[in-house]
Amino acid sequence: MRKRILSGNRPTGRLHIGHLFGVLENWKNLQEQYECFYEIADWHVITTKTDTSDLLENIIEMAIDWLVVGIDPKKSVLFVQSSVKEHAELHLLLSMLITTSRLLRNPTLKEYLQNIEASQITSKKRAFDSFSEAVVSKFTDISSEVSTREKNDHIALLKSKLKDIFLEELNHHGIVDSEEELTYGNLITYGHLGYPVLQAADILVYRAHVVPIGQDQLPHLEITRELARKFNATYGEVFPVPEPLLTEFAKILGTDGRKMSKSYNNTILISEEPEVLEKKIMTSYTDPGKIRRNDPGHPETCPIFSYHQIFNKENTEEIAVSCKSGALGCVECKRNLFGKANDFLTPLREKRKEYEKIKDTVVDILNEGSKKASEEAKNTMEIVREKMKLWAS
Ligand code: SF4
Repeated sequence: MRKRILSGNRPTGRLHIGHLFGVLENWKNLQEQYECFYEIADWHVITTKTDTSDLLENIIEMAIDWLVVGIDPKKSVLFVQSSVKEHAELHLLLSMLITTSRLLRNPTLKEYLQNIEASQITSKKRAFDSFSEAVVSKFTDISSEVSTREKNDHIALLKSKLKDIFLEELNHHGIVDSEEELTYGNLITYGHLGYPVLQAADILVYRAHVVPIGQDQLPHLEITRELARKFNATYGEVFPVPEPLLTEFAKILGTDGRKMSKSYNNTILISEEPEVLEKKIMTSYTDPGKIRRNDPGHPETCPIFSYHQIFNKENTEEIAVSCKSGALGCVECKRNLFGKANDFLTPLREKRKEYEKIKDTVVDILNEGSKKASEEAKNTMEIVREKMKLWAS
């Protein structure tokens, strides 16, 4: 029996070459060795974004990209998460087996909190707290003559006055209305906090053995593994503890030299039209130290070189040497790349145009996959309910 894999992606629109070479090429190969379940994780989108106006369209756009690059519905189960309601049921049951503090330690959540604008308020609060502590300590020195009991009362009064002034200021500027709004609990929703539990349900409801991930995603899978163990120990063996299938994902830089991401507006889409592709390549960031044509460059820091490594593999060594020696200019290097990238992407673009004419077939593929996924999930939930001695109707 082949081992089972669960992997998925949030539908946020058309996919870029970072997805293609970072994830989808790997998925395509895994289809040959594993029983693969590939999930369009639409519920995961709404844990951080309440606007669902483009969600249905994005599901279809992403499914088309999957089909275009060779994710084959005859070999793998392609399905939409929200079509399989058992994910929600298992999410609810697993949520009883994990503490809030464990979820607050989730590294993705910490990163999110650090990035959001509201956390700036928290850092302002921290800055203000240290300011008020400094004032208090001065005040303490001055009042050293006063008895200890009086001194403590003075400090408490001063602290509370300072806090009032701080809140009044924030309120005055329309930042927050109360101290409560300054806490993390007010910055994230219940659904967002439970994101890794839903992720665990996605994997465990199919009793998947293996999850393909990069080294940096290991802490996320750990929550799923903990929940599988906890469930098995509490109610009896149901879930395999899923193993990570560590994969070396290609790191594709965005056209501005940062990580390729839709939110940075620095992507090259799999379906990019030739004119747009050319423009993106010709205006892309390169090694800033290579100002004149004959200046020696540093290809390892240049996104154009990273694209040569995927679209023009056979010539990368030669390009690296001529870039470093200054024999190759950036304009020529970019022109060569455009030719190679366009040759690679043209058949995919054409395939996409064919799928766009038969969107109903794409919907049928997803419905068919969701039906298969549902059967598996239903079987798991029957066992789960039985083990937990829950009402089964
Ligand atoms: S020559 Fe090519 S690899 Fe070197 S810096 Fe210019 S664009 Fe980048």
